[in-house]
Amino acid sequence: MSRLSRREFLASSMLTATALSSCQANRKVLSTKKVKEYAIKCGADIVGITSMDRFEGLPRQLDPRQIFPEAKSMIVLGFRLFRGNFRGIEEGTFFTAYNIMGHEGLRWVFQPVMLWNFTKLIEDEGYEAIPIPDNFPWSNIDKLNPDEIGTDFINVNPARIGKIDGNFSRTVSPEKPYPDIFIQLKVAAFCAGLGEIGYSGTFLTPEYGPRQMFAAVITDAVLEPDPLFTGKLCEKDKCKMACVKDCPSHAISENETVKIKVAGKELEWAKLDFNKCSVSFHGGDKEYNPFMVTTEDEKGFTAQPYTTSRKYKMAPLYWYGRAIEGMRGCQIACMIHLEQEKKLKNVFKNPFRRKAPWKMKGELISKAELDSKIKQQEEKEKQQEEKKTKKVKVDEQ
Ligand code: SF4
Repeated sequence: MSRLSRREFLASSMLTATALSSCQANRKVLSTKKVKEYAIKCGADIVGITSMDRFEGLPRQLDPRQIFPEAKSMIVLGFRLFRGNFRGIEEGTFFTAYNIMGHEGLRWVFQPVMLWNFTKLIEDEGYEAIPIPDNFPWSNIDKLNPDEIGTDFINVNPARIGKIDGNFSRTVSPEKPYPDIFIQLKVAAFCAGLGEIGYSGTFLTPEYGPRQMFAAVITDAVLEPDPLFTGKLCEKDKCKMACVKDCPSHAISENETVKIKVAGKELEWAKLDFNKCSVSFHGGDKEYNPFMVTTEDEKGFTAQPYTTSRKYKMAPLYWYGRAIEGMRGCQIACMIHLEQEKKLKNVFKNPFRRKAPWKMKGELISKAELDSKIKQQEEKEKQQEEKKTKKVKVDEQ
């Protein structure tokens, strides 16, 4: 599908007062085909649509219908994470691409810009639309890590989610849930027929496997929902639970699972130890973090709560998250397996893994030792420089 020219893009993005009032006065039926084509033109890689009734069964604190009771459809947009973002981590030489162009750039820059333009199309047609990038704080969810509200989204367990204790917010009336409602985008992607939730808890699509992030738009436009995904991507017997084995922090449980019921289906995935995951994610594994040099670094990278370790050393360079462990289990191991099984549409000329993956010994030195080493090296360089200068002077004489 060809991309919009700059002119077409700007023209489609400009909403004049006249156009708005004429749209409102003259409500047209918005075509599903047009919506999907426009989503791709605006920059989404994949798009699926769900009707809102498929969210029946979710705890109300997770139910998007609580945000917009008159909504008829949710458009779920998938954005690929480039395989190339993982290359530098695979080589052990360039960690910034995955963090900045993956986690940060996608969530904080590209998704909001894409959604900004895409939402205009729907509102231009006279339908209200709520753009939801994957960077909202998802407040009122997290009970495990009270230092950072809204971070336990990975492992949604309805038994716990319902237990809002009123510490963070009050309901505006007794029949309403607490603000803010949490939209779990992987559940939305399932309802929109984009793929399935893998055993690791990561969403898998036939296009990119585990390599994407999602955003959504909720609207009162009636659109044709996509059928639920009927394929089978995650076959844990075949891959021998590669995600569980390769996760450096052993955060993905081999046998404990969480279950939710949505769209008339029961979904199940591995229980995630969020605390273990967050230590690895923020650089706490000495075998996999080349920026951990000294024993003081080890303390800094593993400091708890992890909002402290997140700020250590790499901030503000790797401000959001970090993903220094490179998502070895839930993304890389899974992607390698699905590519080997030829289950993905985004195919590459060469396999991702070409040699045994690296793992450091994890030997660290103290800060005092490091400072003394650096001082010795500087002294050596100074002496060499002085020697050179002396030699030049002698040669000139
Ligand atoms: S690595 Fe295997 S078990 Fe884990 S999510 Fe991927 S396909 Fe499923």
